[in-house]
Amino acid sequence: MRSQTRTRRSSSDSTSINTDVAGELLRVWADQPAIDHHCHPLRRWPFQLSPEELRGAFTEALDPQLAASHVVNTVAYRDAVRRIAAELDCDPTEAAVLAQRNAADPVGYAKGLLARTATAIMLVDTGFASADAFTLAEQEQATGITQREIVRLERLAEGLIQAADDPREWFIAVRAGLRAAVRGGAVGVKTICAYRATLKLRPVDTDALGVAFSATRLRAQRGQSPRLSGSALCQALLFEGAQECLELDVPLQVHCGFGDPDEDLAETSPLGLRPLFIDPAYRGLRVVLLHCYPYHREAAYLGSVFPDVYMDLSLAIPFAGLEGSRAMREALGLCPTSKLLYAADRCWPITRAASTSSRTELRRPGLAAVLGLDNRFASGLGSERPADLDRNELEVRDNLRRWDRSNRRPVLPTVRGGEKAVVGF
Ligand SMILES: [Zn+2]
Repeated sequence: MRSQTRTRRSSSDSTSINTDVAGELLRVWADQPAIDHHCHPLRRWPFQLSPEELRGAFTEALDPQLAASHVVNTVAYRDAVRRIAAELDCDPTEAAVLAQRNAADPVGYAKGLLARTATAIMLVDTGFASADAFTLAEQEQATGITQREIVRLERLAEGLIQAADDPREWFIAVRAGLRAAVRGGAVGVKTICAYRATLKLRPVDTDALGVAFSATRLRAQRGQSPRLSGSALCQALLFEGAQECLELDVPLQVHCGFGDPDEDLAETSPLGLRPLFIDPAYRGLRVVLLHCYPYHREAAYLGSVFPDVYMDLSLAIPFAGLEGSRAMREALGLCPTSKLLYAADRCWPITRAASTSSRTELRRPGLAAVLGLDNRFASGLGSERPADLDRNELEVRDNLRRWDRSNRRPVLPTVRGGEKAVVGF
């Protein structure tokens, strides 16, 4: 009985303190617009959303049965509907959200949601886009938000394999392509090696590389897809891309952890990237670990011991539902706050609004105006608990001030007018 009383009091105390800290965080960030360091081209509007499409925006599943029957039974989706409904000022049901969404003026609707995320710059991976997606120029025009390209390494390399006589020629062409892209305004490179091979990097096997190169080039010459796959090709390409990123002084983003079921999740831990972190040849290369969940603790460890490793949680918030908050806290267990970046990782305004909202853990009225100023461990400061922050409140406040300063430090170079970009939110 006594212990129950203690538990209740502790919980109540922690809620009030957390609310204070969350409010302070949001006030401090109020004048700091978000930089979304990883997302994808938005789908064009206007278009109508069906229930399956809305549900599909909150799952990585490819099998339509998931959207048809099971997504509605996830914490993440139920929570997302509630948050979106609050944004759209309608009943917290799927039907009401869809009715509101489909009746709205598409441009005003999308701009309204995006504006509330307070996003100033979107760094867009153009390698994944639906057929009805905006180009970057169209997206900048439609959203009023500055857009910069992140080049997808594998997409670029696939387009160059047919014209190359051997792997060496191919890599020269790929590196020239990366240089041209950066000259043209791209601010980083992304690899999806995790989807095509294991991330457990090994020294390049030149024999295996030659065989895989010839087979892939032959497919291209026959008019078939030159889709890169297998460790011989994809890891050799990753090493080449990493070298070029280092020379260009742009970050290399590496997909790690969860994504759609094309990948073998068991092979996507960022720990496998160790050669990039310990080989002096890559010293100074900024590596950004994307998504990470459920390897976010491993990513946080890497960020804590290697100076040029950064991470984000992307869609773990909100896709992992209640686990998203836990992941944020676990990431901050080791990862310096200056290395935990913000990424919406989505292609629909409605998903961005939900994910941004869940990151801020908005639990009280009046905070809607600061949507998008979150990520930065606000998830852990919502009403859900964390009792340990009771004890650490002073440290949290101090951390907050450091966070504020440290995120002014550049991670990506030359995004706008020669200035260094602040990447992190
Ligand atoms: Zn992505």
